Amino acid sequence: MSEYYVCTGCALLCDDIEVETENSKVKTVHAACRKGVARMKGCSDHLECTIDGEKTDVDSAIAKAAEILRNADKPLIFGHGNSSSQAQKMSIGLAKKIGAYLDDTSSFCQGPVIEAILQDKLKTCTLDDIRHKADVIMFWGADPSNSHPRHLSRYSYFPRGKERQRGWEEDRTAICVDVRKSETAVICGDNRFYQIPVGGDAEFMDALVSALSSKVPKTSFGFDAKRILELANVLKKAKFGVICVGLGLIYSLEDLNPLFRLMDKLNEVSDFNLMPMVGQYNMRGFNQNLYEETGYINRVKFNSETGVAEHGPEFSVVEALRNKTVDAALIIGSDPLSSLPLSVSRYLAEIPLITIDPCRNLTSSKAKVTIPCALGGVESGGTAVRMDGVEVELKKILETENLPDAEILRKIMEAI
Ligand code: SF4
Repeated sequence: MSEYYVCTGCALLCDDIEVETENSKVKTVHAACRKGVARMKGCSDHLECTIDGEKTDVDSAIAKAAEILRNADKPLIFGHGNSSSQAQKMSIGLAKKIGAYLDDTSSFCQGPVIEAILQDKLKTCTLDDIRHKADVIMFWGADPSNSHPRHLSRYSYFPRGKERQRGWEEDRTAICVDVRKSETAVICGDNRFYQIPVGGDAEFMDALVSALSSKVPKTSFGFDAKRILELANVLKKAKFGVICVGLGLIYSLEDLNPLFRLMDKLNEVSDFNLMPMVGQYNMRGFNQNLYEETGYINRVKFNSETGVAEHGPEFSVVEALRNKTVDAALIIGSDPLSSLPLSVSRYLAEIPLITIDPCRNLTSSKAKVTIPCALGGVESGGTAVRMDGVEVELKKILETENLPDAEILRKIMEAI
């Protein structure tokens, strides 16, 4: 019988992956998308254990990392989206112990939506609910054809489900709202693609709420009212609808109020759920784990005496680096020097920096201490939380000399 593995290429965490190995390497990956195959085959450039650019052994690197964190007044711990829940919990414990700032990428992407879901302010469902029940699927500022390549085929548009036996051709309608004609928009078709101007999402949502309330929808950018009324009609008739929220929508909204208004209205006239299109495979896990521990999903600073977490925008990675309020950083499975604006991230190169990652990246190239870890879901197991909040067990495929990130963090904590 075939053994199936979980792909950690994105937060869909597809669990039907078959793998062939040869000489302790993944040779062939079956069922995964191109992104998943690249992830399962591992790094093209492996990180090495170093201190000040010189190769060293892992125990020395861990001891140096512990020394840096012990001597720091205001250390920052950031990353976590590509770590198992076990590593995330260890990181939370470490942050508590040393009074660190603790944050992850949700701080500048899906965070507000996940927080609203965890606080029961937005109705949500599982990916399996979508597969079995959804008849209207709206992609808003999301392009899963690129970001989550198997979303449409495995969960949302194309598959047959228990209550959607005829699949996409007759049983499902896919709609795309975006500022550009993405590949997902092309799949939805011209008559189901609503192209809005940059920053026009909130207005378009309110126009849709008007249309759902049988009023004439108006936008300052003159969107065809007839098309908005037609769209409202499709949404009203949905038996099980879902809005898949992408970064395009989140970056466009000043706050989530337009989304709350739309979801409230949709659930007055129909049945609608929201799915955050989380990118990194365990970003939602970090949000849930921190929420359980502190009541916050990100942007916290622990008091090292009391262990109590303070929360606020000033504790976000962006503000902490912009204002230079931290004096050392531990980056786990992330590359902020590539992903954050250079004006903000540049400061990382000025303070003692530690990276834990399986692969070399720009941030690791500036680090004082680098510690290679096992690649999650390939060289180490554990658990992770899918974009819909479902916990998934990861299985190890290959042996490696590198320790799992959870173990490295445990050893650093012990050494401190
Ligand atoms: Fe992996 Fe995501 Fe592709 Fe699924 S969609 S195979 S989880 S990268």
